[in-house]
Amino acid sequence: MDKPKVLVFAPANQESLERMTDVGCELVLGSATWADPSGDSQEKLVEMAAHADALVGTSIKGSKINKDVLMASENLRIVAKYTVGVDEIDVETATEMGIVVTHGPTEANWGGVVEATMTMMLTILKKTRLRDRFLKEGQGWRDEVLMGTYIGQRDDGYAGLTIGIVGLGRIGSRYSEFMKPWKVRLIAYDPYVSDERFAELGVERVDYETLLKTADVVSFHVILTRETTHMLSAHELGLMKKNAIVINTSRGPVIDEPELINALQEERIAGAALDVFEKEPVDPNNPLLKMDDRVFITPHVAANNYDSGLAPGIVWGTNDVLHALRGEVPEHVFNPEVLPRWRERFEGRPLI
Ligand code: NAD
Repeated sequence: MDKPKVLVFAPANQESLERMTDVGCELVLGSATWADPSGDSQEKLVEMAAHADALVGTSIKGSKINKDVLMASENLRIVAKYTVGVDEIDVETATEMGIVVTHGPTEANWGGVVEATMTMMLTILKKTRLRDRFLKEGQGWRDEVLMGTYIGQRDDGYAGLTIGIVGLGRIGSRYSEFMKPWKVRLIAYDPYVSDERFAELGVERVDYETLLKTADVVSFHVILTRETTHMLSAHELGLMKKNAIVINTSRGPVIDEPELINALQEERIAGAALDVFEKEPVDPNNPLLKMDDRVFITPHVAANNYDSGLAPGIVWGTNDVLHALRGEVPEHVFNPEVLPRWRERFEGRPLI
């Protein structure tokens, strides 16, 4: 029997590779890395995917696991992501073709994004960087410019901020739980989450327009789909309050970046904190890199912490590949609707 072929389109760690070679897999390694996820050209990816039984890796930007890549092998049984977010995979085509897609929404990953969201919000609202720099640069002791924004409701009648959460899934929900004790008003827009879940979290359900018109913090936690692409563009930015800030730790294309830049430059909104961008790594000429303290940006590292980060997801992704190669349904399936077809094609047909 030929060795099963696995294309690791964005390798993440040696242990995962060894676990696959130890059971007899032939590996082809892509050039995308965690530090630089640009990776291989689309043509090269198709070439490397020929006759593959499994594709696995962390995020890639630029080239996609598109229809051509999926069709490069009639044996392909699984595309496994070590991370949350499968937006670089054409899941619809994979499902049609009977290919299972798995992902790694480990708490280490999504919980890390929530902590980063809190940090990013506070960095802007409390002028953390300016306060620190002011003192270190000897600009004096106290100054009006160092005034922060009080966040929660107070007993003197101050109403506190309204936090608008777009996408009340794993990350959006935990963010609401973190914010609750701060005594803010919590509103969210997510048409796919039940009223019961909203009630359980103590979050008020609003439509998107109301959220944009009302919130002081508009924080995006949606998955990237056709529907969520550019869901914040010129029109939506125009609905926001002048004092409001935008946070995006979800996916860059959720926001129309040139329009956000215009709104910031024209001071139509108060600030933005971004971990994700339309193009990653960010172009060195991107105007966001040159903006003042109203803008806080990080290089798509929201989920990365010591003792967490990718590690648990790598174990999940590797296990999922090994299960699929053994002809067993993997654990972390993103497209469960594929399973009847997948079972027909691969269940009980081990390659390792
Ligand atoms: P999730 O699937 O648990 O939640 C996403 C939510 O978005 C769901 O509740 C869904 O109903 C909602 N949604 C879908 N379409 C919507 C729409 N049109 N309008 C409003 N809501 C909509 O996902 P999650 O684990 O919470 O992850 C959220 C996002 O964070 C994803 O985009 C993911 O890729 C991203 N992420 C980023 C990092 C990072 O390093 N910055 C790490 C992990 C995840």
